Amino acid sequence: MKTQVKHHQIFIGGEWVDSTGDDAQDVINPANGEVIATVPKGTEKDVDRAVAAARKAFDEVWFDSTPRERSEMLLKIAGVVEEHGEELARIESENVGKPLATTISEEIPPIADCFRFFAGAARLLEGRATGEYMKGMTSMVRREPLGVVGSIAPWNYPLMMAAWKLGPALAAGNTVVLKPSEWTPLTILRLMELAGDIIPPGVINVITGDGEPVGAGIVRHPDVRMVSLTGDVATGKEIARAAASTLKRVHLELGGKAPVVVFDDADLNAVVEGIKIGGFFNAGQDCTAATRVIAGPDIFDGLLRDLVPAVSGLKVGDPTADDTEMGPVVSAEQLERVTGFVDRARKEGAEVLTGGSPLKKKGSWYAPTVVVPRGPEAEIVRKEVFGPVVTVQRFSDEEQALAWANGVDYGLAASVWTRDVGRALRMARRLQFGTVWINTHIPMVNEMPHGGYKQSGYGKDMSIYSLEEYTQIKHVMASLD
Ligand code: NAD
Repeated sequence: MKTQVKHHQIFIGGEWVDSTGDDAQDVINPANGEVIATVPKGTEKDVDRAVAAARKAFDEVWFDSTPRERSEMLLKIAGVVEEHGEELARIESENVGKPLATTISEEIPPIADCFRFFAGAARLLEGRATGEYMKGMTSMVRREPLGVVGSIAPWNYPLMMAAWKLGPALAAGNTVVLKPSEWTPLTILRLMELAGDIIPPGVINVITGDGEPVGAGIVRHPDVRMVSLTGDVATGKEIARAAASTLKRVHLELGGKAPVVVFDDADLNAVVEGIKIGGFFNAGQDCTAATRVIAGPDIFDGLLRDLVPAVSGLKVGDPTADDTEMGPVVSAEQLERVTGFVDRARKEGAEVLTGGSPLKKKGSWYAPTVVVPRGPEAEIVRKEVFGPVVTVQRFSDEEQALAWANGVDYGLAASVWTRDVGRALRMARRLQFGTVWINTHIPMVNEMPHGGYKQSGYGKDMSIYSLEEYTQIKHVMASLD
């Protein structure tokens, strides 16, 4: 029996409303290619309406809210995420192709915790000392919200990325216009249905639709004071250019190509397990995925010997089955992209040790893949594939390992695997990435910052650093006379 296709509206000023345009777009389940919902293709007029609602909410309600009120709202949202965790995970799994069991256990808890963390942080923002820096004058620093923030989210962790953006923006006292990815809008829409009565009208607005006109319309809008994007490097550059015309603040969390630097003295079992999880979680569609293994001369052969069967043995299949480790990639377009990367690598002389092709199944499936590339200059080593594909290279010494690890445009995350503490810390200092893991890869916590170096963008998500970025600093100076 076919499930009924739900036709969604957009969420503006606390109400579900029709788009001003007539077009809708299908939302697809990538595990079987079926349409599971339709959402409006938002228009620039919808952006105007949402920004007006957000601005009104900022001026009339949210600017005057106390940290405690904002904190209490975020705690309630966290409660809703927990209470309806299984339902939200089911929607996310159906829309993105994620294994349901790990979506429930690995994604929902940190999403609820993100709202909780920022609920606490909202009440703890600190400033420097107030004092007399000029005779007869008292100076003080105020940390204030910016106003309306535009949040533009990607498709790989739709609800988590929305939480990373909403948490700090709202805690700091901003109101938000959020655009989910056109491929994966369903969980944030459901969260707004569930939490709508907790949120004062206009404090969060959600518009579905394409990058142009909805995302770009948010970026162009003069009343939007900051734009936060998680997405591709090319999109980040486009947004930074467009934002220049209104000089709005830009916060960019972009792609990655994480090196996994494995020294000869590393714990081989831990490395294999780390790559199996870090490289293939969410079908490798993770900006910090353990995708670029750079292994020492003596451990290289043993690593391939153990890694290849571990990867080819991954349980790929029905996302709702409890033991499934990997589902499909998110869409037919993404499948084509991943296929193109591996096919071009093969043509360039790469050796494909396992996988290397789509699976012959309805939907968008690609086999978990391990590739030994032609060399450090190969496209598959330098560009983000964003799929279940890991490359493994053999380095000769520490300097070469470091040069290869740093030798890409991205700088989001890296890991180093060794039992030598001095070497681990030396590498951690010299790796040009916003996160460096030692003898692990991929865990994150809401208290710690996440964000890129180089072309992986600027601005931090999670942590108190993120909250600060959603504020602006005002100096107030008063005469004592
Ligand atoms: P994308 O850049 O294609 O799209 C991201 C969002 O931007 C979507 O909502 C899209 O509609 C919107 N958009 C597209 N063009 C726009 C424009 N001109 N103006 C405004 N908005 C526009 O990225 P994606 O394919 O959805 O996501 C995958 C990318 O996200 C990968 O590169 C991945 O590494 C990155 N990512 C980064 C992080 C991080 O924390 N650094 C986390 C998750 C994903």
